[in-house]
Amino acid sequence: MAGSIWTTEFFDCPNCGLGYAATKEQHPAKRSGTFNCQVCEVKVHDWSGNYDFFDWKIDQPKAPVFGKRWA
Ligand SMILES: [Zn+2]
Repeated sequence: MAGSIWTTEFFDCPNCGLGYAATKEQHPAKRSGTFNCQVCEVKVHDWSGNYDFFDWKIDQPKAPVFGKRWA
């Protein structure tokens, strides 16, 4: 595979439960960052490694049955 490898990952705000989707991009160099909930400003995810997250979007479940996640 040449170039960037992008994957989508999903996170839930630990405080208000709002779901987010972010694009994870592999990097040759180490990156780090954090993302805070856009509603309650609690930290949703932080990362450090040979990848970066960007393009954070709210991932609202369309039906209540899909609202339950592993955690
Ligand atoms: Zn929140």
